[in-house]
Amino acid sequence: MTDSIFTRIIQGEIPADKVYEDELVICIKDINPKAPVHLLLIPKNPIISLAHLQPEDAQLMGHMTMLLPVIAKSMGLDDGFRTIINTGKGGGQEVDHLHFHILGGRLLGFE
Ligand code: AMP
Repeated sequence: MTDSIFTRIIQGEIPADKVYEDELVICIKDINPKAPVHLLLIPKNPIISLAHLQPEDAQLMGHMTMLLPVIAKSMGLDDGFRTIINTGKGGGQEVDHLHFHILGGRLLGFE
């Protein structure tokens, strides 16, 4: 299987605007932002989607969830933010590498 675009970013083969990185994850600015702040929090382990999680991924998922408000705060989203995870074709997932969208910086209604 070929590497996802996110794996290529993680490996430094494709440039990205990185706002956070640790040993387990990377967080980058979305190339096609849907809000003033639109980030993608991506595990370095190339899990395809929520539907592909294994029991051993529980700690990673906890880590990512706990990071969401920390990263949002560091990007100035003091008023709140939205997280989205698209799963599979029916869920609108375009990149087959699990990622949380983090959106904010304007009032977000149902869109
Ligand atoms: P999804 O539809 O949930 O799979 O979202 C994929 C997201 O990745 C979209 O919002 C794209 O704009 C974003 N994206 C695709 N390629 C890149 C890239 N090279 N750098 C940053 N974001 C990207």
